[in-house]
Amino acid sequence: MKTYDLVIIGGGPAGLSAGLYASRAKLKNIVLEKGDAGGQLATTNDIDNYPGSAENTNGPALSQRMKDQCVEFGSEFAKEELLSIEKKDKLFYLKTDKNEYEAKSVVIATGSNPKEIGCKGEKEFRGMGVSYCATCDGFFFKDLTVAVIGGGDSALEEGMFLTKLAKKVYVVHRRDEFRAAKSIQEKAFANSKMEFIYDSVVEEIKGDGVVNGITLKNVKTGELTNLSVDGVFVFVGYKPDSTLFEDMVEIDEIGFIIGDEEMKTKMEGIFVAGDVRQKMLKQVITAAADGAIAAVSAEKYIARVFE
Ligand code: NAP
Repeated sequence: MKTYDLVIIGGGPAGLSAGLYASRAKLKNIVLEKGDAGGQLATTNDIDNYPGSAENTNGPALSQRMKDQCVEFGSEFAKEELLSIEKKDKLFYLKTDKNEYEAKSVVIATGSNPKEIGCKGEKEFRGMGVSYCATCDGFFFKDLTVAVIGGGDSALEEGMFLTKLAKKVYVVHRRDEFRAAKSIQEKAFANSKMEFIYDSVVEEIKGDGVVNGITLKNVKTGELTNLSVDGVFVFVGYKPDSTLFEDMVEIDEIGFIIGDEEMKTKMEGIFVAGDVRQKMLKQVITAAADGAIAAVSAEKYIARVFE
């Protein structure tokens, strides 16, 4: 059993900031991350809106710098998946796929995962033309035609990134206006490689081993049309990764964890940070801010309860 002051679950910007602030407060802390550090930030190409980010800052580089800074100040890292967590007396006991931990306090920074559309063919062609990450898979669609599904910031930003590789990018949105920020919409509308299809949902993703087309349904007229595409990139939002904590903290109807301004949850000693928290604005900067606050709150909690 390994013992820590603070175990941070999740290595995105929220978890990495929590690690940095915890280390600077001299808390013995570890960041558990089942994938690679960085979370969604590591799969985002251009970062334009993190204050101070230089031109052409990319997600993988920024998350690597965040991780390096954490390690420099003393955070430990483990590539492990959390399987269970329980509280006995004042201490938390966590089991991962590789280790067992005892902690005085916990920060949940598990973030969220891409949502599926739920149409026919989506599961079948996942990895065979259906993708949820333009940075990871865009390269495979060089000079090909792809469809991006969704109308938020992710759909338009990732769609614009894909125009650097693909010869044509259709953006299919279920309404007649985008949810994305106006500044992002303006850039997308000015991109000659993008074409916008409104009021339409994907009925089916089709192919022969790999994707070769989609069937779209116009939600106003009911009309079905076929579109030839080589790939489908789905950006219809994210669902929070909170299932393991359902019995310990308060969770809203979608699955977001409720935390207050100090990132405290319903369970004493558990703090929440980043995209898994119910909040208005989900950005790298708000995730990083949450992580800093959560670590400082954990420090105060440990001083009050254990010292
Ligand atoms: P989002 O804002 O929730 O947008 C999801 C989009 O997908 C919406 O346009 C929605 O349509 C559509 N949609 C949802 N379910 C669908 C379905 N089953 N079929 C078809 N379309 C569906 O998600 P996001 O764009 O991933 O952004 C998530 C958060 O991250 C947001 O807070 C966003 O601001 C932030 N973010 C920010 C940046 C940036 O600032 N540069 C970049 C990426 C993400 P409706 O509009 O009709 O609901």
